Amino acid sequence: MTTVAAYAAPAAKAPLERTTIERRAVGEFDVLIDIKFAGICHSDIHQAREGWGEAIFPMVPGHEIAGVVAEVGSGVTKFAVGDRVGVGCMVDSCRECDNCKAGLEQYCTGGGMIGTYNAVDKNGDVTYGGYSRQIVVDENYTVRIPDGLSLDVAAPLLCAGITTYSPLKHWNAGPGKKVAILGMGGLGHMGVKIAHALGAEVTVLSQSLRKKEDGLKLGADHYYATSDPKTFQELAGSFDLILSTVSAPLSLDQFLSLLKTDGAFVNVGAPEEPVSLNLFSVIMGRKSLAGSGIGGIRETQEMLDFCAEHGFGAEIELIAASEINEAYERVLSSDVRYRFVIDASTI
Ligand code: NAP
Ligand code: ZN
Repeated sequence: MTTVAAYAAPAAKAPLERTTIERRAVGEFDVLIDIKFAGICHSDIHQAREGWGEAIFPMVPGHEIAGVVAEVGSGVTKFAVGDRVGVGCMVDSCRECDNCKAGLEQYCTGGGMIGTYNAVDKNGDVTYGGYSRQIVVDENYTVRIPDGLSLDVAAPLLCAGITTYSPLKHWNAGPGKKVAILGMGGLGHMGVKIAHALGAEVTVLSQSLRKKEDGLKLGADHYYATSDPKTFQELAGSFDLILSTVSAPLSLDQFLSLLKTDGAFVNVGAPEEPVSLNLFSVIMGRKSLAGSGIGGIRETQEMLDFCAEHGFGAEIELIAASEINEAYERVLSSDVRYRFVIDASTI
């Protein structure tokens, strides 16, 4: 066991504060990672404030981890000391169910994936996330960060990147497809970059036009404000795919009206309250309403390689750990441009 510095929420809704946690000894198939950067995902806030239901405290959030391997177990074959690596939202799963075997570990049916934090590991330990100096992770749940990507802008790819890449690929975003990205925060801005790189025609649907210039620079072809009722008239029946990254409940019926016949509305945003739906919104036009959760380990590696090939990471605001609570407030008021990343050396 090693004692490492971390930032934790001591209780639901309490501000995060500096503390120490224990990391397990490096096992046969484990890597010890010196964390360099950790992104702040809106999911960290939902969980630290118990918005998704009962959580485990103290909680060390953080599932967008980028760092360097400091030690490897005797059985490790994929990584060596000095390698640049990342860890996303999960640190284990059953490895035996059909989903795990198919590389869809996030949908593990053998007990569910083990979250990077706010979960109980196979050995009974509570998991603690990336707002810390070091983490010990099984090599099979660790990915390689390509040389072309700096670690700070790579960190957010471990959740924001994969969570948008996976559904964009699954629902065939590409040339000839009209894709709308709903919400331009951490996930949304990665959705814009990735959908553009895949060759789709990209529209941002944001609450206001405040971030329009940025959206167009990141690869959007069009940018509309959802606060303007004219947007819904003008864009009715326009999109093959709408990817919603919105963290609050939405009027689904209104957005489903923007799909073409056979279009799909895919939700990755995970609001704390349920939403309502008039089923005629999907009946008329044979539309699909779907959801998607992060992505598997293999696909996360594919996404990192894709981003490196296209020469982009996330747009970030680098902060010191002492600024985490302030950053949470800015995320909650949609004032993030476009991902806060903690410099782990300040923890
Ligand atoms: P974020 O940076 O806060 O972005 C969310 C964006 O949603 C905001 O920037 C804002 O965009 C829009 N928004 C917020 N409140 C709104 C409201 N009341 N009405 C309309 N739009 C609103 O958050 P994030 O880190 O990207 O995460 C987004 C959501 O995805 C969270 O719920 C998170 O938990 C969830 N998530 C899900 C997965 C998954 O696997 N499915 C993975 C990661 C995160 P504009 O300012 O452009 O309007
Ligand atoms: Zn996340």
